[in-house]
Amino acid sequence: MIKGNGASSGIAIGKAFVMPDWEWELPDDVIDVNDLAFEFEKLYEGIRLSKTEIQTIKHDIAEVLGAEESNIFDAHLAILDDPVFMNEVSGIIQRQYKAAEVAVKEVVDKFVGMFDLLDDEYMKDRAIDIKDVGTRLLKHLLGSGEASQPPQDQPFIVVARELTPSQLAHLDPTQLLGIITQLGGTTSHTAIMARAMGIPFIFGVECPSQTGDLIIVDGDEGIIHLQPDDVTIELYRAKKRTWLEYRQKLQRIIGLPPVTLDGRSVRLGANISSLKDLELALSYGASGVGLFRTEFLYMDRHHLPREDEQFEVYRQVAEQLNGKSLIIRTLDIGGDKQLDYLPLPEEDNPALGYRAIRILLDRRDMFKTQLKAILRAGCYGDVKIMYPMISSVEELRRANEVLELAKRELREANVPFRESIDVGIMIEVPAAAAIADLLAQEVQFFSIGTNDLVQYVLAVDRMNEQIAHLYNPYHPAVIRLLKHIVEAARASGITVGVCGELAGDVHALPIWLGLGVHDLSMSAHSILPVKNRLIETTEQHCRELLNQVLACRTSEEIRALLHGKE
Ligand code: PEP
Ligand code: MG
Repeated sequence: MIKGNGASSGIAIGKAFVMPDWEWELPDDVIDVNDLAFEFEKLYEGIRLSKTEIQTIKHDIAEVLGAEESNIFDAHLAILDDPVFMNEVSGIIQRQYKAAEVAVKEVVDKFVGMFDLLDDEYMKDRAIDIKDVGTRLLKHLLGSGEASQPPQDQPFIVVARELTPSQLAHLDPTQLLGIITQLGGTTSHTAIMARAMGIPFIFGVECPSQTGDLIIVDGDEGIIHLQPDDVTIELYRAKKRTWLEYRQKLQRIIGLPPVTLDGRSVRLGANISSLKDLELALSYGASGVGLFRTEFLYMDRHHLPREDEQFEVYRQVAEQLNGKSLIIRTLDIGGDKQLDYLPLPEEDNPALGYRAIRILLDRRDMFKTQLKAILRAGCYGDVKIMYPMISSVEELRRANEVLELAKRELREANVPFRESIDVGIMIEVPAAAAIADLLAQEVQFFSIGTNDLVQYVLAVDRMNEQIAHLYNPYHPAVIRLLKHIVEAARASGITVGVCGELAGDVHALPIWLGLGVHDLSMSAHSILPVKNRLIETTEQHCRELLNQVLACRTSEEIRALLHGKE
């Protein structure tokens, strides 16, 4: 048995097909100056052929997975049109007299290396797209064919060092059972496609199997069994049946209202970063958006997004929500989220450093621009503003001053906006939790950000793998603090919700219901599992369970109680 990272859930039992790496034989001589024109012709022809091929794949994928998923290949077409990429390739041919294929390989390697170095999973995953396009282009420049294909008409589990979206698109979806790769990530386009296709996918393992070996892939646990015995196979067959029944059940409850057996209704909202996320969330029946992480609007570009650009996105999200609540969080950069065009100083302790509201209050113009865009979008739906990482009343008041300034400027310019917009704060710093009673008197709502709150309460960096085992949301200190925050909010009569990952943990549901929290916001994929749990429990039972949880002395006891294993 080997352990990797599950990026798409489900169980596959079948034979391995080990995909060989493509290998290139590149010319190492410099080219003659008279051959420059030929190299460029070859390059342009390669680009043309690659584009046609990508269009065909896009079309084929649209038929199988729908137009949304096929848009992944637009990113590939964009790389071939990217002036920076193409200028670098042309420069190498023209100035260093290298063959087109050598130039392409060098530029691809350079960009892939750059993206790989970034401490950001999303950007690392973009490296795979560049490699994918580069491989396709090289294939045309060198005139070599596709890598070896899996056996026809037989189901298989693909095992590869890396699987690019194009390679995945070339595999027969009716025969593909599962995917195991050494490289990859949960936000890679390959992972997104695998999830959309419902194919279990594990990455981060060097799987030593040969083509034809029997293997089991457990995408939920990230576990691979090599050459399993009959008992293990039987166990996983049963697990697969249960999993399929569970999936079917989740589909059936999409239309059901999120209400407990004793009639307590709970809002199950979604955390989103883009319009695309929203679409998925709505398809799972999200009751609104409890957290719009706007930083992704600021990333992947060369300058700050203008007010109008932001307004357009916020307006579209608000309109698509059709009256359902939308909480837009103002920019939360710093720490692990950096912007190329807004260099921040190197810090020894980025998580305790210059981030979120601390930056916004220094960069008031940038902050005001975003607030104006949100205020304007407020005319198109039930829009609310939320400040990240507030730790004092002064900070909140200073943020509100900028909000007032934004309103005044809009008013003076006769631009319509939502005057009486609700303002809330994330409770994710212990200081804010401790003075929750004071903060509650100055805002309309709280949203508990358990991801950061747990990190700061336990002094455990959420990005540090070495101490990941200490990052424990079930720690009694966390539970006590949650109770304190909720009670403070209730005493002031304001709404309190949760938008950290703990909101989407089905086992944590009794904590929220027990505490009387009825606004949960989570990643779209958690909505149905949480609803499934919700409609099978009672508020009364959750209260009783919470009382037991509060009496526990260790995280282990709490975990056992919540996971139902005493
Ligand atoms: C949180 O800290 O719980 C949260 C939701 O914010 P983020 O994960 O974006 O830091
Ligand atoms: Mg946070």
